[in-house]
Amino acid sequence: MRNDNIDINRKKSLIRSDELDKIAIGDIESKSQVRVGFSEFSKKIYANTKNKILEELNSTEDDWNNPKWQMKNRITTADEISKYTNLSKEDYENIEKVSEKYRFAITPYYFSLIDFNNPNCPVKLQSFPDIKELDKSGMLDPMNEEQSNPSGRITRRYPNKLIINVTNACPMYCRHCQRRRLIGKFDKHTPKGDIAESIEFIKNTNTIREVLVTGGDALLLSNNQLENIFYELSQINHVEVIRVGTRVLATLPFRIDSELAVLLRKYKVNVSTQFNHACEVTPEAVRAIDMLVDNGILIRNQMVLLHNVNDDKYGIQKTNEELQKYRVIPYYLFHPKEVKGIKHFNVDISKGLEIMKHLEGRTSGMCKPTYVYNSPGGLGKIPLVPMQNIECEEDCYRLTTWENKTVRQRFK
Ligand SMILES: *Cc1c(COP(=O)(O)O)cnc(C)c1O
Ligand code: SF4
Repeated sequence: MRNDNIDINRKKSLIRSDELDKIAIGDIESKSQVRVGFSEFSKKIYANTKNKILEELNSTEDDWNNPKWQMKNRITTADEISKYTNLSKEDYENIEKVSEKYRFAITPYYFSLIDFNNPNCPVKLQSFPDIKELDKSGMLDPMNEEQSNPSGRITRRYPNKLIINVTNACPMYCRHCQRRRLIGKFDKHTPKGDIAESIEFIKNTNTIREVLVTGGDALLLSNNQLENIFYELSQINHVEVIRVGTRVLATLPFRIDSELAVLLRKYKVNVSTQFNHACEVTPEAVRAIDMLVDNGILIRNQMVLLHNVNDDKYGIQKTNEELQKYRVIPYYLFHPKEVKGIKHFNVDISKGLEIMKHLEGRTSGMCKPTYVYNSPGGLGKIPLVPMQNIECEEDCYRLTTWENKTVRQRFK
């Protein structure tokens, strides 16, 4: 009798296991279409453009790995682009026209990730000026940041945490940046006085337990400048946590050196970063990630949902799985904002919900970010959760599993 039960259980388990295999095999097939930074294909693209650039600039491998060289040699004109790829006359003129209004800058590193044979290459869409940016609709500051600025360069929208913007500079100006109104004509770090004023405000506001040091890209400050800020913050009793916002892991991984890793460890700094596509998770990026994680730094990823870049469930699944594999935990999936000049990246909320539904059960819970909508007027982030997962009936909740099976839980 007992053995029979074991046999039946084993048989049912095997049937279920086969069923799950079918789903997994389909998923693996779909994910294999997504370009990853570690593939031979990606490495070839990278080596090819990198060599062209080094030759053109008469520079060495050491130069390439030097963040200062990368910053100094950023690609900022249509002429420079056309040294490395064929631009049609129309593309050339469009880039010129758009960059008069919204400048662009691409590190040679990030530029070398572009697959020029793919018109929708996610790296290219994030970094190349697009004529659609000149569309006049949308607001410049829908988050009302300018009205959440109690002092210095602070943005405060929450009871116990706030942001200090320490620079307006970034290694690469993301075309989808929601703060593009702050990207001026020149790269500019926040003046010392404004930072001191911000720190003074935090000192005098004992409800603040977490300070986000961001920009722009906070890691464009020198290690010295960062240490001064971290030191000041660490002297404030009520500040328990310092967090840094940076995209250098994706755009300028050479910026991460062991001195910086040790500095971040010393002040127990949390890091949030932004990878939007699996092809940005390259061997160079992982070298930088390793340096931080090996020093005990927590890194969490804030992805932005972007039309044509990653609004695809398998693309997002694969990207988050790559990040998990290399010890970066997915944190947020941001719904794109309706900012003037970036509306061509917009998608409908239903798309994001569909992606989140897909991630349920299909992959590790560690690969599942929270999908958030940033409410206009600076009212804060709102988590968006697939609605059909929970509904009230007369005396119970009707719950839906990842495979859309129904279960019920009685009211208590
Ligand atoms: C997003 C944000 C934060 C940080 O929010 P978390 O949910 O803790 O990541 C803090 N302040 C402002 C103004 C923000 O927009
Ligand atoms: S790294 Fe962040 S702040 Fe800088 S351009 Fe990109 S989205 Fe904007």
